[in-house]
Amino acid sequence: MSHGKSNALSADQALEKLKNGNTLYLISKISSGDISPRRRLDTSDNGQQPYAIVITCSDSRVIPESIFGAGIGDLFVIRVAGNVMDDHQLGSVEYAASHLGVKLIVVMGHNHCGAVDAAINHDPDGYIKFITDEIREAIGEEKNEYKACCLNVLHSIDIIEKSLLIHEQEEQGLKVVGAVYRLEDGKVDFFT
Ligand SMILES: [Zn+2]
Repeated sequence: MSHGKSNALSADQALEKLKNGNTLYLISKISSGDISPRRRLDTSDNGQQPYAIVITCSDSRVIPESIFGAGIGDLFVIRVAGNVMDDHQLGSVEYAASHLGVKLIVVMGHNHCGAVDAAINHDPDGYIKFITDEIREAIGEEKNEYKACCLNVLHSIDIIEKSLLIHEQEEQGLKVVGAVYRLEDGKVDFFT
């Protein structure tokens, strides 16, 4: 069982890479990540070593790999409507942090999020309610969509940081960072 590979990027290096990738994305019409057959084969033979874990919404307008100019093997992505955290998502995060040596976790919400809007303005039925209940816990009485989005990101970060495994990794340089993606222009605003 490996606990982090020696040539993994640090949290700050990974954050810099994400920011640079996003800057490129703002002016790009095609994705700039490496999805070449060579990269495919290399990661298949030698395993993955993603430099960041990204937890974000399932919204079809939010494409983490494109947003950060990432390719095969770059990002360990967890997508769920409203970027809420439950045990399954947390297990995925713990796996990537402790077994793949990833030093940066980004929880990225986005503006005009249907899940956040539903939590503020609607009373959904079915399993959707599990998602909106979680978001309501995060946002309380907040009615402003953008502020609610930020509160929801912070709530997911809280849940991640309560994990003992993550806490251990934080002592070894792992960082958990919040961010909001803007649908209209593609910009990611990091909370740091
Ligand atoms: Zn959304």
